[in-house]
Amino acid sequence: MANTETTKRLPIREDLFTMPLTTLEEVRLMGGRCRGCEEVSLGKRGYCPNCGGQDIQDLPLSKKGKLWTYTIIRHRPPGDYKGPDPFVPFGLGLVALPEGIRVVSPIEGDIDLMRIGMDLELSVYPLYTDGDGNEVIAFRFKPI
Ligand SMILES: [Zn+2]
Repeated sequence: MANTETTKRLPIREDLFTMPLTTLEEVRLMGGRCRGCEEVSLGKRGYCPNCGGQDIQDLPLSKKGKLWTYTIIRHRPPGDYKGPDPFVPFGLGLVALPEGIRVVSPIEGDIDLMRIGMDLELSVYPLYTDGDGNEVIAFRFKPI
């Protein structure tokens, strides 16, 4: 079992979250806003994917959004899939956030209850424990 005294938490992708990861309820997705063209992107990066500008301002993203569209993943993805075994079908959505960005995210909950436009909230959680005993932290969105 995880021991919070000794377990380290690592983000599943560098610069994806606001830090620290101590209290997961307080963690938000980290984004950036280009000072040149206002484009918002997910994660920290050194350049704007829209205009190539390099003046990017940190922008922690809202925790609430709406389901813009989605699909159902019915078969185990190839490669290093870390979800439940045996595989459980899940929703994969594009979540529209107030900052004007759409984020690809797994959607928690019953796939038959998913509806375009439904209200969602960010859920940051330990996805698995790596070989060194670190909790690897991922995100999904859940219905409110
Ligand atoms: Zn830009």
